[in-house]
Amino acid sequence: MEQTYVMIKPDGVKRHLIGEIIKRIENKGYRIVKMEMRKLHKEIVREHYSHLTDKPFYPEIEEYIISGEVVCMIVEGERAVEGVRQLLGSTDGLLASPGTIRGDYATSKTYNLCHASDSTESAEIEIKRFFG
Ligand code: ADP
Repeated sequence: MEQTYVMIKPDGVKRHLIGEIIKRIENKGYRIVKMEMRKLHKEIVREHYSHLTDKPFYPEIEEYIISGEVVCMIVEGERAVEGVRQLLGSTDGLLASPGTIRGDYATSKTYNLCHASDSTESAEIEIKRFFG
C-alpha cells in the first residue's frame, strides 16, 4: 500500500470537476483517506513549487494556485504514486493523452486541473507539508 498527495487546483474547483476527478481516482481502485478544501498562502505554494521558483512562469503559477480554493487529498492504494500520475496525464493539457484527466479536460500547460506527487519521496514530503 502506498500513499500519494493529490490536489485539485483552483481551475478544477471552479469548473466543477471535483466530482469527475475524484470519480476517476476512486473508479481506478484508490481510496481517499483524507480530504480538505483550502485556500493556500503564497508561502506554502512557493515551498511546494520550489523546483520552479526561478522559472519565468513562476509568478503565474503562484497567482493561479492562490486564486481560489483547492482540494487537498491523501490517496492510498497499490502503487498509488505512479497510478495517479497516469490518471492525470502529462503536464501540458494539450499534449496529455485522451482518456487522462488533463487530456480530457485541459488545453493549457499551466491550468491543468490537478496535482499529484511525482515520487514516493515527494509524496511523503507533500503529505507532511499539507496535512502535518
Ligand atoms: P507536474 O504538475 O505535471 O508534476 P511540474 O512539477 O513540472 O509538473 O510543474 C508544476 C506545475 O507548474 C504544472 O502542473 C503547471 O501548472 C505549471 N507549469 C509547469 N511547467 C510549466 C510551463 N512550462 N509553463 C507554464 N506553467 C508550467
